[in-house]
Amino acid sequence: MNIIDGKKIAQIVADELTQQIAFSKLSNRPPKLVIIGSNPDARSLVYIKAKIKRAEDIGIDTDFIDIGSKTRDEQISLVEEVNRDNSSDGIIIQLPLDDWSDPQELIDYISKEKDVDGLTTSNQNSLLVDESLFTPATPLAVMKIIESNNIKIAGKTVCVVGRSKLVGKPLKYLLESAGANVLVVHSKTKNTNELILKSDIVVSAAGKPGLISVGMVKENVILIDVGITEVDGKILGDIDMNNMAEKASLISPVPGGVGPVTVVMLLSNVIKAYNRSVAHN
Ligand code: NAD
Repeated sequence: MNIIDGKKIAQIVADELTQQIAFSKLSNRPPKLVIIGSNPDARSLVYIKAKIKRAEDIGIDTDFIDIGSKTRDEQISLVEEVNRDNSSDGIIIQLPLDDWSDPQELIDYISKEKDVDGLTTSNQNSLLVDESLFTPATPLAVMKIIESNNIKIAGKTVCVVGRSKLVGKPLKYLLESAGANVLVVHSKTKNTNELILKSDIVVSAAGKPGLISVGMVKENVILIDVGITEVDGKILGDIDMNNMAEKASLISPVPGGVGPVTVVMLLSNVIKAYNRSVAHN
């Protein structure tokens, strides 16, 4: 069994992005990503810092704004202000958000041109008709991992575990567009095990440690783990690795697989937004 090295793939993408910025003659200002958070907890801070570090290394300016002490109206005004600011290209809202039982309400104030997470309702709806400006970074990372490892997916049966707006739904669309036969399972699916067992590739994004075990998958399966769950300070994926090495042909593990690639795919969306913005201004 081979193990996919997400850090290596991320570095290759990061180098390409650095070059794109260095050779861009479109503007004398660098691209800029604004990260909005609300009293981020320790885990969110780790993610925010990882994005900032990678962005700055590539040559993307960043700004982190903590909206934790603002009222809901002030938070909306702030998002609108960043929308209007010509020096910033992308806006992301780091979840969880304290004051919003449905964070989508605030996310939908991000203009679709700056929605580099691809999470506004407008971009989500456009994805389904092939017209979205930005696709969420995690499904893009899964596709990048597939491409980087020369995994042929046309005609293959791929099971996507999870159907969230962030991962499962857009991933289904991307895989189908690339010619795969996609099966989606979720917490209400009755025959999950049967569908996983007949799949050539399983991408798991449930956030349930140990959900996919060796007895559930077919011989030579390719496994891509997206799940991230912190248990006793340890990051665990959805795949139970016990005896999996003898059964699977290739695994993208957690940590060190999809995670690092997700960060650079987000930044590639920022550069896309920047190129659009400077071309239009
Ligand atoms: P979510 O909670 O919104 O969605 C989880 C999905 O899994 C739901 O559709 C649910 O129905 C399904 N599910 C839950 N239990 C299941 C079960 N037993 N069998 C089948 N399906 C089941 O979560 P999300 O935002 O889509 O994230 C999913 C996981 O991926 C989380 O662990 C999250 O931390 C991780 N994640 C990782 C990255 C990364 O960069 N690696 C990025 C985003 C999310």
